[in-house]
Amino acid sequence: MNISHLQCLKCGAQEPFNFDLNLCPRCGIGGEDDPSILDVHYHYDKAAIEFKASIEKQNGNSLARFLPLLPLKTFIDVLPTGNTSLVPAAQLGFDLGFKNLWLKDETRNPTRSLKDRATAVFVGMAVENGLPEVYCSSAGNAAISLAGYSALAGLKAQVFVPNNVSKTRLDWLNRYGANVHVSSGNYDQAFAESEEIGKTKGWYSRNCAYNPYLVEGKKTVAFEIAQQLNFDAPDVVMAPVGDGCTLAAIGKGFRELRQIGLIDRIPKLIGVQAARLNPLVSRFEGEALKLEQTKASSIAVRKPRNALRLARELQESKGMLVSVDDEEMLVAQKELAQKAGLIAEVTSAASLAALKKLANKFTGEERIVIVVTGGRTDEA
Ligand SMILES: [Zn+2]
Repeated sequence: MNISHLQCLKCGAQEPFNFDLNLCPRCGIGGEDDPSILDVHYHYDKAAIEFKASIEKQNGNSLARFLPLLPLKTFIDVLPTGNTSLVPAAQLGFDLGFKNLWLKDETRNPTRSLKDRATAVFVGMAVENGLPEVYCSSAGNAAISLAGYSALAGLKAQVFVPNNVSKTRLDWLNRYGANVHVSSGNYDQAFAESEEIGKTKGWYSRNCAYNPYLVEGKKTVAFEIAQQLNFDAPDVVMAPVGDGCTLAAIGKGFRELRQIGLIDRIPKLIGVQAARLNPLVSRFEGEALKLEQTKASSIAVRKPRNALRLARELQESKGMLVSVDDEEMLVAQKELAQKAGLIAEVTSAASLAALKKLANKFTGEERIVIVVTGGRTDEA
């Protein structure tokens, strides 16, 4: 493994690698303030040589080719993750005035969302460290992902979901044989319950907002996008934002590729929230705070936990956050289906809705990638 240390994004203190360390031991959970998120650092000189060799030698589809920049000793057999298509969306691009618009179709992952990338790494760590019982809280996708991957790996999955979780999502969880805990409250309450019970029971946490290693799995989507574009990085990458982990992970992935010399610049990150539930847009862009119900259930997070990580990546990439109405997401969802043949969940259509909103801020020459994060279309 090439990990050098963990570093607190709040106080800057360094910690040695520990598979079970979530938040910074000095800063703790942070109370009303941000949780003290840890970031994984590698010996980049060594990793650079191994990473390039691995990509060249294997030229394969498995996330195993990215092992030199992952927190794993080996890459165990998991459900076949990643290697999703980067689809040129010519009609959508033409209609919006863009010459180069791609859709990174993460709905093609085994349980239909980008969360599978994080779970692939997480399950590897659980197996590697002999941890048979695992847990997470989730609006649906992360829980389903954990349930599916645990089934193949022989782990016991404990999943915590909000009270408004759809019947379809519950059905997926039950089919995979997960132990489902339905909270009496929203996602934020389910999260708190999972942390309390999970810690008491000694289960291993797949809560991406806290566990620093999940981001390492998610960043592989950036590695893949870059590889699919022959390491000529796009100008803009867009994704929906709930806790902030996914977009921050994408930013980290591109930064690491620049650090090891595979790309020479990083794309501008654009994160999208629902206008009705916009804590991060409010915090970073000054929009009036709204905490209402939204159909974008996968980003319905009232208290984002990974804001520090997101803030760093937005700053590094000169990125921005934007909000869109539910109605705009529903129109975009229909357009993804009817102009690109891609069935996406409402949350995952947020980025296209945002691109339409921002179109006049671009020249049309930019190379833009929209990460379509999930394809389960059963949101409330
Ligand atoms: Zn700290």
